[in-house]
Amino acid sequence: STQAETFEFQAESRRLLQLMVHAIYSNKDTFLRELVSNASDALDKLRLESFRDKDLEVDTSDLHILIETDRQNRTLTVRDNGIGMSRDEVQELIGTIAKSGTAELLQQLKETNDGAAARELIGQFGLGFYASFMVADRVTLLTRRAGENTGTRWESTGEGTYTLETVDEAPQGTAVTLHLKAEDQEDSLLDYTDSATITDIVKRYSDFISWPIRMEVEHTDSEGGTTRQLETINSMKALWARPKEEVAEQEYHEFYKHISHDWNTPLETIHLRAEGTIEYQALLFVPSVAPFDLFTRDHKRGVQLYVKRVFIMDDCEELLPEYLRFVKGVVDAQDLSLNVSREILQQDRQIQMMRRRLVKKVLSTVKDMMSQDPDRYAKFWDQFGQVVKEGLLNDVDNRDQILEIASFESTHDPENRTTLREYVERMKEGQDSIYYITGSSRSKVENSPHIEAFRDKGVEVLLLTDPVDEMWVESVPEFDGTPFRSIAKGQVDLDEKDEDGEDGERAQREQEFSGVLSWMTTKLADDVKEVRLSSRLSTSPACVVSDSNDMGPTLEKMYRAMGH
Ligand code: ADP
Ligand code: MG
Repeated sequence: STQAETFEFQAESRRLLQLMVHAIYSNKDTFLRELVSNASDALDKLRLESFRDKDLEVDTSDLHILIETDRQNRTLTVRDNGIGMSRDEVQELIGTIAKSGTAELLQQLKETNDGAAARELIGQFGLGFYASFMVADRVTLLTRRAGENTGTRWESTGEGTYTLETVDEAPQGTAVTLHLKAEDQEDSLLDYTDSATITDIVKRYSDFISWPIRMEVEHTDSEGGTTRQLETINSMKALWARPKEEVAEQEYHEFYKHISHDWNTPLETIHLRAEGTIEYQALLFVPSVAPFDLFTRDHKRGVQLYVKRVFIMDDCEELLPEYLRFVKGVVDAQDLSLNVSREILQQDRQIQMMRRRLVKKVLSTVKDMMSQDPDRYAKFWDQFGQVVKEGLLNDVDNRDQILEIASFESTHDPENRTTLREYVERMKEGQDSIYYITGSSRSKVENSPHIEAFRDKGVEVLLLTDPVDEMWVESVPEFDGTPFRSIAKGQVDLDEKDEDGEDGERAQREQEFSGVLSWMTTKLADDVKEVRLSSRLSTSPACVVSDSNDMGPTLEKMYRAMGH
């Protein structure tokens, strides 16, 4: 074996570690969930890789997780015979936090002095492997990647540096050993060398893990002596295959945390079972907080595909459209081949049918939330509304459903958003359109001259301020028979229609101003198409409007910025 080399943690990792070491998170038991979760992922990966790569020489006959405790030395080891890591992988995966959003997280933490808020932020981010440092003052990881001859030993006290050493002898897979903090150092610390404590924690957080989690469990016999016996301490039952009535909410939540790597409880759980021509089970979750990378290009979609209980792939894009990319979960299909590849999935009719059904189910779940729990729905829309609206552009089949579950800011209420249905119900007699204005912020559009006459006459206007709004209003003509109409485009004159005699008066005024209007039209010929007399203004003297067929100003700006 080689000499151990010392490395520095990347700055961002170091700061997160500091937070960990100083135990900012209150529920310390969760470290075990993170280690077991990583071990389970590693076993999934090995099974998959050995399946795809027949030349890989590995024994996959007894894939499992083993938890070992040592009272004397106060250590706890979580061992798996999964995929393992190469030296480079250890350095890349354990030495850095590669997750996007770390920088933003730390920035937000810096701005927060409130401990509870900081906890919440970290919880949202998830700490994975680093959670070990909540309970350990030294962590050793010994690993050998499947197919490689030498192993790697990583060790750190979580204080800025770690060491790496190449070792000749290492079992394939990964063993993480925690050198537990002294109990008196942290009064909230349980005895993690006690097999009953560990059994409890595993049952609480990791019961559904599909691999056996084994441990030597202590039993007291009738004569009062203790015996130790190797046992599997989790039930290994796939949660999604169990009947809904039998699954406790807590179990759903722990499962969500395992697959999503999010420490918050989900906002909504969807458990469905399809029988008949195509058989599958799905367990989907709507998170309560949007991940930091929801709008980055490489954001992963959260649905895992299983076939008959066997993990096939993460991030299965074919199962849900892009605009539902925040949904996490598992879909387990009965009739697909274990060999399926992404290429096959794209054309598979079964998958397409499943996708249609899942999309409808997610949308209808949101609709139910809207009627049954408006506060929860409001939370949902705060977090994911912008993404869902992308569906108005791309998913024409479900457009009506999406419009039904959408809500928008409007001049009706400065505090609460309105649904389109509510807007239509409030429409004045004679009003035939849903009026909207787009722009970059509520205050900007509220102060726009376009809105004056509408305000004066008490006509409600939707205030569309998300970038995506500018796009969908171009392609969605109406909601349930009522057309959308921009108040910043074309001729929107509120009076003409409903008030008799206006036309005559207007013609007279136009006559009166015709000289000025044609003079202005000539003067401004390079900049505008036409100068018109308007009844839409009450205090501003003039405003610029687009032609009905033109792009809105925000869209125009966007195209210009893109170089069109
Ligand atoms: P996450 O699981 O969210 O990716 P973690 O901090 O828990 O974040 O782990 C970081 C990465 O380290 C994992 O994605 C995985 O690639 C690697 N890793 C951690 N534990 C193991 C393990 N037991 N076997 C193989 N790889 C592991
Ligand atoms: Mg993890």
